[in-house]
Amino acid sequence: MKLTEKYRKMLFGLYPPRSFANGNFHKISAFSNVGVVETNNGLVLFDISSRINGSKIFNSLREITNKPIKYIIFSHGHYDHCFGYDPLIEEIKEKGWEMPQVIAHENTVSRFEKYRMLDKYNNWVHDQQFGSVLGKNKQYNSAREILNPTIVLRGNESYSFKLGEYSFELYHDRGETDDHIWMFVPEEKVLFTGDFIISCFPNVGNPYKVQRYPKDWAYALDKMREKEPEYLIPGQGPLIEGKKKIEEVLIITAEVMHFVHDEVVKRLNEGKWFEQIYHEMLEIYPEKFNHEYLEQVYGCYRFAIHAVYRLYHGWYDTGNPTDLFPARKNEIANEFLKISDEKEYYIRAKDLYDENKLQLALHVLDVIFNASDMVNTEILLSAYELKIKILQQKEEKESSFIASNIFLNEVNKLKSKIVELQKRTSSD
Ligand SMILES: [Zn+2]
Repeated sequence: MKLTEKYRKMLFGLYPPRSFANGNFHKISAFSNVGVVETNNGLVLFDISSRINGSKIFNSLREITNKPIKYIIFSHGHYDHCFGYDPLIEEIKEKGWEMPQVIAHENTVSRFEKYRMLDKYNNWVHDQQFGSVLGKNKQYNSAREILNPTIVLRGNESYSFKLGEYSFELYHDRGETDDHIWMFVPEEKVLFTGDFIISCFPNVGNPYKVQRYPKDWAYALDKMREKEPEYLIPGQGPLIEGKKKIEEVLIITAEVMHFVHDEVVKRLNEGKWFEQIYHEMLEIYPEKFNHEYLEQVYGCYRFAIHAVYRLYHGWYDTGNPTDLFPARKNEIANEFLKISDEKEYYIRAKDLYDENKLQLALHVLDVIFNASDMVNTEILLSAYELKIKILQQKEEKESSFIASNIFLNEVNKLKSKIVELQKRTSSD
């Protein structure tokens, strides 16, 4: 993918701190955003970024204000929102300040339990999603140590409190996760959305992650709009200012979610299976969603289609009983090679590549890889090289950071397979 300066900044939160609304509100960025409200009785922090960004957040905060932190709110339990607490807590202990209240939804508490159970798996997932850019094995997601919530929102209950001259309204809605909280400060009409808004297409159908909630997400955005906010601190990206601009962003994001949801549901009711729904949906994406706040640089529309389908459908997604209890892929491929050998498959894949039918070429090449035990080494090597070329070309054109990483990870894997194969053949 071509990461323009604008999207590099947005994806990695490379913004200087920003103060607004009488200078009492601040946005600090380090991958995700931290919202700071400075009251005459201390600070409220909405999110505290990731473990690896804790010091960056702390240093930026202390360049702005020396007031003690009274409340920390977790917008949701993702690794980049509630693990950057170490330097904050160290300071509190050093200065003998009271520990802040930590507010989260009850599903954040169970999310942390789940993360502990799936510690290694989650690190693997994060390596897949970010590894080609951030490097591997960074323990991004570990919840073995957490900052324990002291105030827990249950079910759909909301929560409000006052600190100094400001009031804080907290609401729970499902969207990117089942544990999201968003916050509104009515005195200055400041909205803190967490990942309900990430300044690009919503990350609603992430291929590695559990179910997300497009329809609830859209309704949550409608509720936020009713507050008529003047400032919006998104989970990622720059501060959004002005009632009209914010309204536009909230409306277009809700609309795209209603659209993808309702169109998939319509096709489910027409008795269609995933393949048909997916390809039909690709044809009908409305022009108006090519909006600056819906750029498909992280999540994308193609993923969102999956999200809606999965929300209502089981895992049997083709309607073909052959796929109900399938044989192993290598056994199937071995049978294909008995009909026509690997050379024929390679030649066909190469022709498709030359015709720029990259996706079809990948499917044909996979017959060779799936039967790799049986195939001629020279053909296998050429097939690996061709797949690398195809994936690199797809990656160059890909807009989504997540999809792009999936392509790049496979390129790296195939390159080491080539080295391995060459070693093996030279020692034979
Ligand atoms: Zn998130």
